[in-house]
Amino acid sequence: MSTPIKARVGVLGAGQLALMLAEAGHQLNIEVICSGRPGDCASRVAPLVELDLEDPQAVQTFSSKVDVLTLESENVETTVLDGLANLAPNSRSVKIAQDRLFEKDFLRFQGVQTAPYAEVSSLRDLHHALELIGAPSILKTRRLGYDGRGQVRLTHIDEAASAWAHMGGAPCILEGMVPFEREVSLIAVRSAKGELAFYPLVENEHRAGILRVSHAPFVDQQLQTLAEKHLRAVLLALDYVGVLTVEFFVVSDKLIANEMAPRVHNSGHWTIEGAETSQFANHLRAILGWPLGSTASQPTVMLNCIGSMPAEADTASFPAIHRHDYGKAPRTGRKVGHLTIPASETELIEEWRRRLED
Ligand code: AMP
Repeated sequence: MSTPIKARVGVLGAGQLALMLAEAGHQLNIEVICSGRPGDCASRVAPLVELDLEDPQAVQTFSSKVDVLTLESENVETTVLDGLANLAPNSRSVKIAQDRLFEKDFLRFQGVQTAPYAEVSSLRDLHHALELIGAPSILKTRRLGYDGRGQVRLTHIDEAASAWAHMGGAPCILEGMVPFEREVSLIAVRSAKGELAFYPLVENEHRAGILRVSHAPFVDQQLQTLAEKHLRAVLLALDYVGVLTVEFFVVSDKLIANEMAPRVHNSGHWTIEGAETSQFANHLRAILGWPLGSTASQPTVMLNCIGSMPAEADTASFPAIHRHDYGKAPRTGRKVGHLTIPASETELIEEWRRRLED
């Protein structure tokens, strides 16, 4: 006899994050319903509602059919978020996180350090920002930038006109380049009942703006305490419910926030095998007001598969490898899956890092 469904969660989107939320939902008897287009990768494991994510009425109707509505991307039209009573995280959190200017203003207000930045809406603004911030610096679109897209690096102030032309008139910010030693992220979760939990800091390696490898945990008690203090402040200020991720640059004993994601995050995929409760299960628990699961974890490494998946026969011959194939068509620069390996398997990790470099 099948176990009755305990709750129904809707997800705006049907990509790989929705897919992994749905997989976590199966184990908790939570029905996760995704919204998107047929063929989106979550549709392999979850019911799919075909939805125009820019249509407020359609989204409203979808939300009325589920206990809680959540999202897998912050890049949702803000007009569809307003008035959704059962949305978690709330629309204010999403609106802040989807705009780099709002995000940095907000983080600073919470006492979290960021790179120096300035708003840029014209070439004139960019010249002015460069006087303040100088070069090297990065011009980033305020919205819709991810995995290094919507960014151009300036090595000299003479490059202002070409950098601005590259952005095609989109509202931007100019950010000072941070001479970081490493990049880390903290994944936190706050439940609808106000319960809080944190995963250990993770060290992340990016190439060309795309996450390649996450090492969990990154052990530094002082930075862990500082990161938790920052996320606690952010979660409470936003009355946030669900998983929240903040990416930081480490500069000696300082944490400089780069960006926050109001959702489960690629740097938390290792938690599926590496933690007692995955970020996906804890996100579902949090938004439903259930008790959170333990975030106790084992040292684990996650390798992203970018562009294409390795052959199944190759990964299958290593029992220590957990393979996650999102079922996406191969495409340059696209995240199509990931591998999780216990951190103790150092030689295996080195071998697969090499194999996955394209
Ligand atoms: P983002 O799209 O903001 O996450 O940036 C992608 C990657 O570019 C980051 O993970 C960093 O490796 C690098 N990056 C972005 N902003 C800065 C910055 N202000 N200083 C140094 N590196 C940066």
